[in-house]
Amino acid sequence: MINSDLERSIRHAEEVVWLNPKRQPMVPGGCTSSLGMGDILDAEARLERFAPLLMHLFPETRPQGGIIESPLLQIPHMQATLAAHFGCAFPGQLLLKQDSHLAVAGSVKARGGIYEVLKHTEELALSCGLLAEGENYRRLAEPSCRAVFSRHTIQVGSTGNLGMSIGIMSAALGYQAVVHMSADARQWKKDLLRSHGVTVVEYASDYSQAVKQGRLASDQDPNSYFVDDENSKNLFLGYAVAALRLKRQLLAQNIAVDAQHPLFVYIPCGVGGAPGGITFGLKQLFGDHVHCFFVEPTQAPCMLVGMASGLHNGVSVQDYDLTGLTHADGLAVGRSSGFVGRVMEPLLSGIFTLQDSRLYDYMRALLTTQDIFIEPSAAAAFHGPITLLSTSAGQEYLRQNNLTSKLPQSTHIAWATGGSLVPEEIRTEYQKTYL
Ligand SMILES: *Cc1c(COP(=O)(O)O)cnc(C)c1O
Repeated sequence: MINSDLERSIRHAEEVVWLNPKRQPMVPGGCTSSLGMGDILDAEARLERFAPLLMHLFPETRPQGGIIESPLLQIPHMQATLAAHFGCAFPGQLLLKQDSHLAVAGSVKARGGIYEVLKHTEELALSCGLLAEGENYRRLAEPSCRAVFSRHTIQVGSTGNLGMSIGIMSAALGYQAVVHMSADARQWKKDLLRSHGVTVVEYASDYSQAVKQGRLASDQDPNSYFVDDENSKNLFLGYAVAALRLKRQLLAQNIAVDAQHPLFVYIPCGVGGAPGGITFGLKQLFGDHVHCFFVEPTQAPCMLVGMASGLHNGVSVQDYDLTGLTHADGLAVGRSSGFVGRVMEPLLSGIFTLQDSRLYDYMRALLTTQDIFIEPSAAAAFHGPITLLSTSAGQEYLRQNNLTSKLPQSTHIAWATGGSLVPEEIRTEYQKTYL
């Protein structure tokens, strides 16, 4: 049960800091769920098998050999500006993980969504005899294979970005693609999908309804595959691969992560798959040396109410008299994934919430200081370090975990979850938005 002070603040849509009381020390090599390192490595190997096909379908992936990965960038000017604005010391270094600039889908969904479509494609291709074991996957772009895919449908429910990643990849492979969009989804995302030949079904209701209707439609068609954002282990593992890639990037930049050099990672959270998968991977690799925090809007803190109550997908933000409505369209989710919430119980450090007005402030600050555009949902990540460093609850976390003296050697990663596909006129609109 949620303690009464926290519950009151949640109900009043106040910004809160929740530290996870169920977090456990990581036992080296230990397993905290049915999934493990082997599953993440398996997912990474699958993405490598598909790399030749991706290079063919999406020429922009050629410089990276068909591997869709984003830069990890130091952002010292943003760090200094945040410290000055909030009047707090910001020791260590702040980095931006630019999933906003991932190829093909322009958001973190390029990890999970694309992985799931590829995994399904591999299974279908092997079962239909389109691929022999060990054959070059580039073959799947041939007309005979596309003809098979065109008789199959892939469907998904989405607030926008997941639909874009699944829709664009499915259509590129030749599938019929259907995206069930909630009312939160932006018009330009629907337009972009339609321009790729994707069928967009619009709902006046929220994300959970779009998922429900999408699943119903898919279940009626034996040749249709439904991507289940709330329960999919495939999506989750696709996201988790990010950790292996990040580890290599940190190594290449000579950034240590160990007992003396803690790593803090802040990720915006919607239903939980993306931040959950990334956290799961990072905890497997760095154990107790990495501290992962999710950030959610005050009107849609679905993972917070799920984890803090222990009820997971058994509660919604509406049960706390919240609207679920937020300018952070990628985070506009009223009910979290129960699967992810349970996996996160021993791993996650905490969850912070923020008011919508701050999304635009952080977004503008990054644009002004570093000339980098990210979408408002992604800008929520910056509320992570600010909350940890400037609130008493954040300080308490640092003290309890013996981290205060290590802050000068610490690394903070704000996970920028989306933005590069946002059209110019919408960027301008965002920049002029003050709430
Ligand atoms: C989807 C999304 C998230 C959160 O991912 P979930 O899997 O829904 O928790 C965060 N930011 C952006 C921009 C997104 O599109």
